[in-house]
Amino acid sequence: MELIFEKSRPGRTAAALPASDVPEKSLEGLIGRDLLRDELNLPEMAEVDIVRHYTRLSRRNFGVDAGFYPLGSCTMKYNPKVNENAARLDGFTALHPYAPETFSQGNLELLYGLAGYLCEICGMDDFTLQPAAGAHGELTGVMIIKRHFEKKGQKRTTILIPDTAHGTNPASVALCGFQVATVRSNAEGGVDIRHLQELMTGDVAGLMLTNPNTLGLFERNIEKVAAIVHRKGGLLYCDGANANALVGVTRPGDMGFDIIQLNLHKTFSTPHGCGGPGSGPVGVKRRLAPFLPVPRIVKKGKRYRWSEDFPLTIGRVRAFYGNVNVMVKVYAYIRALGAAGIRRVSENAVLNANYVMARLKPCYRLAYDRPCMHECVFTAEKQVQQSGVHATDIAKRLLDYGFHPPTIYFPMIVREAIMIEPTETESKETLDEFCEAMISIAREAEETPELVRSAPLTTPVKRLDDVLAARKPDVCWTLC
Ligand SMILES: *Cc1c(COP(=O)(O)O)cnc(C)c1O
Repeated sequence: MELIFEKSRPGRTAAALPASDVPEKSLEGLIGRDLLRDELNLPEMAEVDIVRHYTRLSRRNFGVDAGFYPLGSCTMKYNPKVNENAARLDGFTALHPYAPETFSQGNLELLYGLAGYLCEICGMDDFTLQPAAGAHGELTGVMIIKRHFEKKGQKRTTILIPDTAHGTNPASVALCGFQVATVRSNAEGGVDIRHLQELMTGDVAGLMLTNPNTLGLFERNIEKVAAIVHRKGGLLYCDGANANALVGVTRPGDMGFDIIQLNLHKTFSTPHGCGGPGSGPVGVKRRLAPFLPVPRIVKKGKRYRWSEDFPLTIGRVRAFYGNVNVMVKVYAYIRALGAAGIRRVSENAVLNANYVMARLKPCYRLAYDRPCMHECVFTAEKQVQQSGVHATDIAKRLLDYGFHPPTIYFPMIVREAIMIEPTETESKETLDEFCEAMISIAREAEETPELVRSAPLTTPVKRLDDVLAARKPDVCWTLC
C-alpha cells in the first residue's frame, strides 16, 4: 500500500480557499532566516483521498471491537460503550481536574469514591489513583516498600520474585536500587515453599507475587507464603495486573498482601496504553498509607480537597493526578455491575478459560494439568517434536483464521508457551470458533506442517523478522 507521501501530487490541496484580500506580508525579518523553511514536505492531497487513506489504515488495525483477542496476561476484554458515554459528559470533559475545589467537588467525589471501591474490592485500606500504568504502579509500590524500611531504619537490599513473574517486576525492583532474587516454582506451578524459606532472610524487603500467577494458577499456599514473608519482617506485594479471576470472589488484602497495584486497563475494562489511557492504582494496608504519593484527596465533612500535607509521602510519581477521565469509566463500570456483577466477571472469566482449556487439551499439551483461573497455558512442544511447528507458527497461522493470537513464549518457564485468556466478555460461540481454529491448526501441523510454518498467508504483511522488526522498526518515511 502506498504511503501518504507517495500519493502526494504537487499543488493538490484539500481546501479551496478564496483569494486573499489582504496584502501578503513576508515573514522575513519577523522570524530568523535559519528558522524559515521553503518546503515542509507535507503531502499534498485532496480531502477525499486523505479520508480514504486513513479509513483504509484504520481497518488494518485489530482491536477488541474487531474480534476475539485472547492475549494472555493482558485481559483484552470488551469495554462497554456506556462507560465511554459517562466519561464524555461535559461535566467531566470540560472540567480541569485541578480546577478550584469549589468547582470540582463532583470530580473529587468520584475519585475519592473510586478509591473506596478499589479498597473494598481488594481488601486494602487506602488507594492512590496516580500511577499511569501497571509497571508504574509496581514502581510506586516498590518505592513505598523502600520508604517503609528507611523509616524503620532497616537496610534491606533484596526483593524476591518468582520465576514465573512478569518482566516488569524485576525491572521495577531494580529501578529502586534493590537486588532481585528469584524464587523457583514447584511441580504444580506455585511458589517452592522450601526455596522461599531459604531466601527469606532479614535482608529481604519483600516478595512480589502474582496471584493467580502468570501460569493462570491460583497460589494454594498463599497463607503460608504470607506467613513466611511477614515472620521475617518483609512485605508482600501483589502484582494485581490481572485481577480478573479474583474480583468479587476473594481479596488480596485478606490473603496477607500488604500492597497491590491494579491495572484498570485490564480488569476494569478501560483502554490499554501505557502513559495514555492506562492506569495502575496502588492500594496499601493502613500502616503504609502515609507513604502514598501526593497530592491526595481528603474529605472533611462533606467537602473534598487536594492535600499535600503528608510528610512521609514518597512524593509525586506523575505530573498529574492520574488519568482522570479513565477513572470515570472505571467508576461507571463498577457502579453498573455492583458487587454481584463484579463477582460474575470473575466467575465467567474462570469458566471461559476452563472451557477453552478443556476443548484444546486433546490437541495441545497443557503446561500444568490442573484447573486454571482466568487464563490457561499450553505448550507447543508436542507439535515441535512431531513436525517442527513452533508456538510462533501456530500464532501466525491464527491470523489467517481471523483471530488475534494468544500470548506466546511467556511465562518463560514454559517452553513453547501458548497462553490463552478468553475473558468473561466472550460468548460460547466465539470461544467455539476460536477453539475450532486452534484444533484445525493442530491438524494442519500434523498433515501439512509447511503450511503452518509459512503462515500468515492472508495478511497485508507476511512473516516479519521478529528481531529486526522490534529492534530496528522501519516506521519513518524519508525523502530520498
Ligand atoms: C500487564 C502486566 C503488567 C504491566 O502493566 P502495564 O500497564 O503494561 O505497565 C505487570 N504485571 C503483569 C502480571 C501484567 O500482566
